[in-house]
Amino acid sequence: MPETLLEVRHLSQHIKLSDSWFSKASYLYAVDDVSFSLKAGETLGLVGESGCGKSTLARSILKLMEPSAGQILFKGQDITQYTGKQMVSLRKEMQIIFQDPMDSLNGRHTVGAILQEPFEIHQMGDAKQRRQWVEDLLLKVGLPVEAMDKYPHEFSGGQKQRIGIARAIALKPKVIVCDEAVSALDMSVQAQIMNLLLSLQQEMQLALIFIAHDLSVVKHISDRVAVMYLGKIVELTSAQRLYEKPLHPYSQALISAIPVADPRKRKARQVLQGDVPSAINRPQGCHFAGRCPKVMAKCEQIAPKLSDIKDLEFEHKIACHLIE
Ligand code: SF4
Repeated sequence: MPETLLEVRHLSQHIKLSDSWFSKASYLYAVDDVSFSLKAGETLGLVGESGCGKSTLARSILKLMEPSAGQILFKGQDITQYTGKQMVSLRKEMQIIFQDPMDSLNGRHTVGAILQEPFEIHQMGDAKQRRQWVEDLLLKVGLPVEAMDKYPHEFSGGQKQRIGIARAIALKPKVIVCDEAVSALDMSVQAQIMNLLLSLQQEMQLALIFIAHDLSVVKHISDRVAVMYLGKIVELTSAQRLYEKPLHPYSQALISAIPVADPRKRKARQVLQGDVPSAINRPQGCHFAGRCPKVMAKCEQIAPKLSDIKDLEFEHKIACHLIE
């Protein structure tokens, strides 16, 4: 049984917007009461429309933002209250790949200098060893050794993402968060980068949290998928089960919108009406009620809780009054 690397318990990111003597404090409920676990070698896909809290959740897990409530456990150890200094050593184990690799690559440094930096920060090896490690990293991500003397702007988008991946795996992490890591790439390059991530995952037993708004991309790479809506997980199950039999009306609408090449397999697309409600003034009850084609009277009063569907032999969690 692979070891559980990461456990997120009731994590929230409520961002205070205003507070004065004259008015009540208002909050942006970016992430609200999210729980899940992640095993070594596993990929958890996180999907949902933009603004649903996926990236804020990822940043909160890595403590790039301090969570406002909940717990984060890494290898069974509670890291929620870790200080910046304690997090430096943990950064070896938990890394992030951004949508735009330039967010993490200093454009004024050569690729060699960028890839050596993690070893320097953690005082690993001497100059000769570091150079050798950088060469190994470049080859591992499919780039020539000569790339180390060039600057990031000299590379294509896909090659820059390979450099971002090389940097992320430099210290042999256990968990990598891929935050829309392939979203800005052409389809053929997306496939190459995902295949690279999958082969590195196998080789290094990496656990991946793969965030994307494109559900067909997530399907290809994920073992399990969590669907987020307005800061909450509304459905969580295996990728196969979710794509074959989504149960939450929101997941059903998202999955019906995935383009299908074979016209015989195409299903009617469910177009969602209305907009995502504000994460500041959230409606009472189910946050999806205003857009849900199956809304009932109770939905507007009582918020459904994410819970396991009874009597199943596999994991399938859902937050919907239709299934209780
Ligand atoms: Fe729709 Fe009600 Fe289920 Fe919410 S709880 S998704 S409104 S049926």
